[in-house]
Amino acid sequence: MDRRTLLRRGVTAGVGTALGAWSLNAVAPFLLPEWPVWDVNLSLWMRFQPPHNPPLTTDLDVDVAVIGGGYTGLSAAYHIGKAAPNKHVAVLEARGVGNGASGRNGGMLLPNVANEYLQLLSPADVHKRVYDLTVQSMKNLVALAKGSGIDGVVDSVGALETFETKEEAEHGRAYTESVRGLGIPVKYLDRERTAEAIGTRAYTASVYEPNAGHVHPIKLVHALKLAAEAAGVKIYEDSPVLSVEEGPVTRLHMASGQTVKARSLVLATNAFTSKLGYFRNAIAPVYNYVAATRPLSVGELTSIGWRSRMPFNDARTLVYYLGLTPEGRIHIGGGSAAYAWNDGVAGRPDVKAVDLLRKELTRLYPALLGIEFDASWNGMVDMTLDWAPLVGVTGKHRNIYYGLGYCGHGVNLTFLFGRIIAELEAGQEQPWREFSFVNRHPPYIPNEPFRWIGIQAETAYYGLAGQ
Ligand SMILES: Cc1cc2nc3c(=O)[nH]c(=O)nc-3n(C[C@H](O)[C@H](O)[C@H](O)COP(=O)(O)OP(=O)(O)OC[C@H]3O[C@@H](n4cnc5c(N)ncnc54)[C@H](O)[C@@H]3O)c2cc1C
Repeated sequence: MDRRTLLRRGVTAGVGTALGAWSLNAVAPFLLPEWPVWDVNLSLWMRFQPPHNPPLTTDLDVDVAVIGGGYTGLSAAYHIGKAAPNKHVAVLEARGVGNGASGRNGGMLLPNVANEYLQLLSPADVHKRVYDLTVQSMKNLVALAKGSGIDGVVDSVGALETFETKEEAEHGRAYTESVRGLGIPVKYLDRERTAEAIGTRAYTASVYEPNAGHVHPIKLVHALKLAAEAAGVKIYEDSPVLSVEEGPVTRLHMASGQTVKARSLVLATNAFTSKLGYFRNAIAPVYNYVAATRPLSVGELTSIGWRSRMPFNDARTLVYYLGLTPEGRIHIGGGSAAYAWNDGVAGRPDVKAVDLLRKELTRLYPALLGIEFDASWNGMVDMTLDWAPLVGVTGKHRNIYYGLGYCGHGVNLTFLFGRIIAELEAGQEQPWREFSFVNRHPPYIPNEPFRWIGIQAETAYYGLAGQ
């Protein structure tokens, strides 16, 4: 075969493959069944779950319908109800409030957004504005939690980001120096001072964030639920929404047969959002595992020396995060990430992922060798390709509001995004225009099978690289 024929055949094969891939990507959503599944939340936190509200049993006509009773949905409903007491607002939650990530997370209450927290990406003044905005929102959240009458919702104890390698520590030191110049009060701690705070000598250094803390995830859900109900919001649990029919008045079709009509809709469905036909190409849900020990004795706690009781996370891509509960349990999460085909939910518990957590815990605290976990569970983290979240308005009639893509950094941010959703819904868009996460266009994530292949390759790479 001569070179020209070879070249022609090569180009034809390349164009054919590209066209085939493009067509497969385009038709995939219509070929693959979209069954929403809401798996049971097995987290330790659910031991504090009060009884559910009754489900929706009649048709409803409301000003605002919120799908999803996690932090985002409850915060949006609370802020809308508080600002406009005459609006009829209803939250529709498939299972119980907090059944998703809000009732399964590691409880770290952190300022900033995930991508800025990992690296200083924005110009200095923008970085500072986002930092201040998220710190102020955290203060508002802490005040709401403290006023809820529920004990032990939040502890503003600070937090550490820990570094294992010299390169990570150098990055931490450079980050600290640059943001301290902006008035952000973080501190760089060397190995000794890190060990003094959290007991373990496994880390070279850490960065101390005084404006951080720790929440009891499900108690925070309930503090928000009480606040939303006090603002006049009706919350229906065990009320799954099956589909959304867009219009100037949106119609929601409930699994139990009712219809909800709403002038505005809030999608607060996090990792489940693609099942309603939205943000499939912006979000990829991945699983994270968390486990908690039995309560440690005073002697055990003294021997590990975690004096500050501050939660901490390391700086790896497959991050580990740890916290200490008031009753002396250590909970540890992360270290792995898994994606289930077509944004599915994980079936069986992953013994390997929980083993990784046990190994990491005893590497950090050798005195805990042989300790058993009292609970282990998983939860879905809604990842975007650029690790930046999204909040805004969409739909042909510009009446569908959303907040998602928190990338494992949503305990604090969801409260702020609920407020932003409320203000956008009230037509107050102007103050939010300067923030890049409002009404942004996230990088494109393809449909199956490409998303499955891509995510497997990426998580395998980070797993093998020990990151
Ligand atoms: C294991 C884990 C650890 C984490 N650790 C931290 C941490 O330490 N710090 C931090 O800042 N962030 C952390 N996060 C992230 C944080 O928990 C989330 O960003 C936050 O909870 C998202 O809240 P949400 O309300 O948007 O979503 P969710 O809490 O997931 O709520 C969505 C709700 O929508 C409901 N729903 C979905 N579809 C429907 C439907 N069709 N009809 C009715 N209801 C529906 C679901 O049942 C669910 O209750 C972690 C996440 C996980 C999973």
